[in-house]
Amino acid sequence: MSQPDSQAPTTYLQVALPVPFRRLFDYYPPRRWKGEPLKPGIRVKVSFGNRQLIGVLINTSHHSDWPADKLKPVLELIDEQPLIPPELLKLCQWTAKYYHHSLGETLQVALPAVLRQGKTAGYGTATKYRAATADQDQTIALSRAPKQLAAYKTLLEHPSGLTLAGLKGLGIASHIVQGLRQKQLITEVQSREPATAKPWPSNLLRQPALTLNPAQQQAVTTVSQQLGQFCCFLLQGVTGSGKTEVYLQIIEACLKQKRQALVLIPEIGLTPQTLQRFQARFSVPIATLHSNLTDLERWQAWQAAASGQAGIIIGTRSAIFTPLANPGVIIIDEEHDGSFKQQDNLRYSARDVAVYRANQLLAPIVLGSATPALESLYNAAMGRYQKLELPDRAGDAKPPAINMLDLKGKPLSDGLALDLQPLMASHLATGNQVLVFINRRGFAPTLICHECGWLSDCSHCDAHLTLHRYPPLLRCHHCGVEENIPTLCPQCQQNSLHPVGTGTERCEATLSQWFPETELIRIDRDTTQRKNAMQELLEKIHQEKPAILLGTQMLAKGHHFPKVSLVVVVDADSGLFSADFRGVEKLAQLLTQVAGRAGRAAAQGEVIIQTHQPDHRMLQLLQAGLYDELTQSLLKERQGLSLPPFGYMVLLRAESPHQQKAEALLNEACQTIQQTDLAASLFNSVDILGPLPAPMEKRQGRFRYQLALHARQRQPLHQLTQLLIQCLENSKLSRQVRWSVDVDPQDM
Ligand code: ADP
Ligand code: ZN
Ligand code: ZN
Repeated sequence: MSQPDSQAPTTYLQVALPVPFRRLFDYYPPRRWKGEPLKPGIRVKVSFGNRQLIGVLINTSHHSDWPADKLKPVLELIDEQPLIPPELLKLCQWTAKYYHHSLGETLQVALPAVLRQGKTAGYGTATKYRAATADQDQTIALSRAPKQLAAYKTLLEHPSGLTLAGLKGLGIASHIVQGLRQKQLITEVQSREPATAKPWPSNLLRQPALTLNPAQQQAVTTVSQQLGQFCCFLLQGVTGSGKTEVYLQIIEACLKQKRQALVLIPEIGLTPQTLQRFQARFSVPIATLHSNLTDLERWQAWQAAASGQAGIIIGTRSAIFTPLANPGVIIIDEEHDGSFKQQDNLRYSARDVAVYRANQLLAPIVLGSATPALESLYNAAMGRYQKLELPDRAGDAKPPAINMLDLKGKPLSDGLALDLQPLMASHLATGNQVLVFINRRGFAPTLICHECGWLSDCSHCDAHLTLHRYPPLLRCHHCGVEENIPTLCPQCQQNSLHPVGTGTERCEATLSQWFPETELIRIDRDTTQRKNAMQELLEKIHQEKPAILLGTQMLAKGHHFPKVSLVVVVDADSGLFSADFRGVEKLAQLLTQVAGRAGRAAAQGEVIIQTHQPDHRMLQLLQAGLYDELTQSLLKERQGLSLPPFGYMVLLRAESPHQQKAEALLNEACQTIQQTDLAASLFNSVDILGPLPAPMEKRQGRFRYQLALHARQRQPLHQLTQLLIQCLENSKLSRQVRWSVDVDPQDM
């Protein structure tokens, strides 16, 4: 069909499309194709079913498995030059393969929206004006408009066109250009100039660097010496040890070599301070990439990174897919943080993708944390990562003293032991701040009837409705459903409904009674919904007046609150007996992080953990400041069970509004693969567990099942996953059941 020469072999374009199918789609070149090179990474517009989609060219081939009459030509080649650099394309291909995801959808995650939509005009393109014809006769038509004539002649001298700015520079105002346009003597063309980078200021620093302590210096020197080579460092530094200063000085060394630094942080909105510290230190342009950007801002940041203009790129999870002109170093702050793993669609771990990418780029990567993930500690122990340690707090700050408050038999007020009041009062009286941590928002996790035992349950989820006071309602934290608070029990009609358990709102009630004069700053998802609300609350904290900071884990992460001298953990018990094998690890990380908010200035901080289990080994180890012993004993447990990092897991999830269908789909896939020889050979090395109901079987009106695959080696695990996916893709049931693949799942 659209072949320039019938003798030449047919060219097929292999295109990645934003659809769930895990394969590429073949197309012919566009009808008007004249044989110009088709480079991987250019975008193409194609028809797909009855839709038009924007895809990315991955390859060309002279062979297609599809019958010729099934194939269509590409509608349009959008780009001449690839917008997606080869390195980034390769990264996306690896990611798609590793996570068993469609490459087209992986690219959707990686690319800014304007690229996905096929846009270019206005986004990094310049509008240029050209003379419509090279016909000198047109000048006669302009003989009575001398300015337009002059402009026209100028344009004739510039056949490739001039931008408005360029014309202005030659003394031609825009209304003259418009006049020529109206006479249809000139045409407008969109031209994409490769974004060019201006050189960075010669003085890279806005603010002098701090003098490093020996441990920090050692870390900075070691990493800086590796610039230009791949090496993965695990920077384990206790809270307040000055990890950020280490990052800053590694970045400085990197910038001096005219290379860029890519920094991933868990959530920019939660810790605007981190970003501010980078901005205050460096005078080179910094590009930020996070979820609160407009499409245009995101595209600009992307280009600044791709062109080399930005020296530092700071972003959340998906920023790992930012193109870099001169990659130097990758830094992952709080590498243990759960937000680096995407929990839907493409379930990738930005940290793990980052390690792969650093390897490809021949760049060092630094994973920093006070509480590294067990996986990372294990990798360090195996010699795959090089460990760098900051054992002490920077400056004069001392580690906080951790004490258990045994709740057994103690009178409580809204979950707070009465003993806390005088202790908090003494800290507030010295002008300090107190942080009260409770990882549940709302007033109380549920409402119960004292007469008949009725519970406020969500009708769409296997979960209780949380009682909220402001505004008063019952709300499901899993599906968002809201109901009015009944005055009488819906089941027995008695007036005997009581809130059970404690959330932030309920703590607030007692705290404001105890300390009516003290400012109470509550930070949870309910108080920070409004744009800038988090920022405003943080600013209040940073005024450093005596105050009580009350909040969920939004308060626990990465903040530097110099005035906080006492941290109270309201409830350590609910996490101690979690069904998730990572439960204790996560609790230990969270408690250590929260405790780390105390005493970050000169005065020693104090941490009180309320628990009914003061003798629990994990709490004991935390109290003694023995995080490493704790992680070693957790690793030993995992080793005994071959759990990650000693084994690998894949979770196949399925959900459907019909209770049987999700389970049936997974069962069918298991049965189908059992008939293949390859699967039979894999069963020796891969355990299959399930299908079993997910921990919360019903959620948002859907019944959820999962199939867990578990193996000591990755290869057979991935092979079996592949086989199961083929069965799932081919199953008729899969059209009625949503299913997904989770490689290295974090939540079981
Ligand atoms: P981390 O990220 O490890 O929790 P930070 O980088 O926030 O620690 O550092 C904690 C505090 O110590 C900050 O106020 C920081 O400015 C200060 N600090 C870091 N390094 C030094 C240093 N070498 N000398 C003096 N103060 C330092
Ligand atoms: Zn009742
Ligand atoms: Zn619900």
